[in-house]
Amino acid sequence: MTAKIARNLMPLNATVRDVMARLNEAVGVILFVDDGGKLQGVATDGDVRRAILNGRGLDTPAADFMIRQFTFGRDDAEPTANLALLTERVRHLPILDADGRPVELLTWANLWALPLIQPSLGGNESRYVNDCLATGWISSQGPYIEKFQSAFAEYMGGGKALCTSSCTTALHLALEALGIGAGDEVIVPDLTFGATANVVIHANATPVFVDIDPITWTIDPKAIAAAITPRTKAIIPVHLYGHPCDMGPIMELARQHNLKVIEDCAESLGAEYQGRKAGLIGDVGCFSFFANKVITTGEGGMAITRSPEVAAQMAILRDHGMTRERRYWHLHAGYNYRMTNLQAAIGLAQLERIEIFLKRRDDLVRRYNTYLAGFPELGLPTQAPWARNIYWLYSLAVRPERLGMTRDQFSAMLSERGIETRPVFQPLHGQPAYRSGIAHPCPVSADIAERGISLPTGNEMSGNDVDRVCDAITSILRTQRVYRAQSA
Ligand SMILES: *Cc1c(COP(=O)(O)O)cnc(C)c1O
Repeated sequence: MTAKIARNLMPLNATVRDVMARLNEAVGVILFVDDGGKLQGVATDGDVRRAILNGRGLDTPAADFMIRQFTFGRDDAEPTANLALLTERVRHLPILDADGRPVELLTWANLWALPLIQPSLGGNESRYVNDCLATGWISSQGPYIEKFQSAFAEYMGGGKALCTSSCTTALHLALEALGIGAGDEVIVPDLTFGATANVVIHANATPVFVDIDPITWTIDPKAIAAAITPRTKAIIPVHLYGHPCDMGPIMELARQHNLKVIEDCAESLGAEYQGRKAGLIGDVGCFSFFANKVITTGEGGMAITRSPEVAAQMAILRDHGMTRERRYWHLHAGYNYRMTNLQAAIGLAQLERIEIFLKRRDDLVRRYNTYLAGFPELGLPTQAPWARNIYWLYSLAVRPERLGMTRDQFSAMLSERGIETRPVFQPLHGQPAYRSGIAHPCPVSADIAERGISLPTGNEMSGNDVDRVCDAITSILRTQRVYRAQSA
């Protein structure tokens, strides 16, 4: 018997209270076995809720409330025959051996797992990649690089765009091209993916961690103002989860203190601040095309800037620091941060469908918002009046005191129902890699990091998928309400 199923087994004298405690560990269903190990009955959280509503007390033994009529599979049956027994009503299927003892449990998670994010590659991607293969242009030279860069700049509404091997390398190029280096401080949000701070350290500068805004989860301009010193040289606002930062006050601070602004747009392609695309508001904008971002090239990134000088400097650094004027003449100890033509071919095909992807996300978000609006246990994501949030991931902050469980318990219950979720990032300032950084108080970042969770949000996701996630959430929250009412 697998360790997994052991957590589902309980004796016939287990009480409602025992069963509730075990179900709270996200096991989904309890299998009640007799002294011989034979399955005699089952109960899900819904069955326990109904038992309580029918007046059963917490000390009622399983034998008095378990469901004795249940669907089960056989361990000698075809696996597909067993899976076929899973339906809208039968979400947990015990598999019994010849003696009637449970040996396995099939769930919806086995049948229909819903991933957090799935790329959509059904456009011109394969045609363009095949074109690269057929013509032999597979390295970082070739027509798709130029095509992708100009299509990207056109989508952004201006600037010079440079393909890179990732967003991380784009950020590093931006810092070096803007002259940020040893002795300089760079202000970054405490809640972001680590790459935002790593590149500051790669550039030999010092990351300064400041708090985020509790509504948008993006860097708080007041916290930036409080962290500026004579050594501060740059700010890296991160448009987190697709919500743009409050760029007006940030650019005003940068103007007053003569600071560079590098926008980390890894999660925000298409996001807008007061009708302007995020990425072209600061000095340089850096985008990611990792497989889980809004558009993908597998691995890849883009840097965009309105400054021809900065663009030229980034291009030289991207290509080993060599000048264009003289062959094999190195002006800097540069990098190889180039993208391949193969990746650019995929990127161009992805960008052709950006409006479709963003529209689909808008639809998903509207559906999530409508369905989940009635649950005060959940803090739904928002969009500031000046913002276009492109909702890279539909992320909410649970309220554990109302929910009666932690974010991680909630996530485990969704996982048990086949739904993948993700905790938000960890605050950076306490992590081993960033001890050399300067940390300002970050209570909001700490709070959101503990309560934030991302639900499935993908370019291929359907309305039905959203409904399935919301159905699962509804069932978890309803059950939890009954338990809480009972134990109050
Ligand atoms: C994904 C991500 C990055 C890194 O992007 P890569 O292309 O994987 O290097 C940087 N910053 C943020 C906020 C991200 O989400």
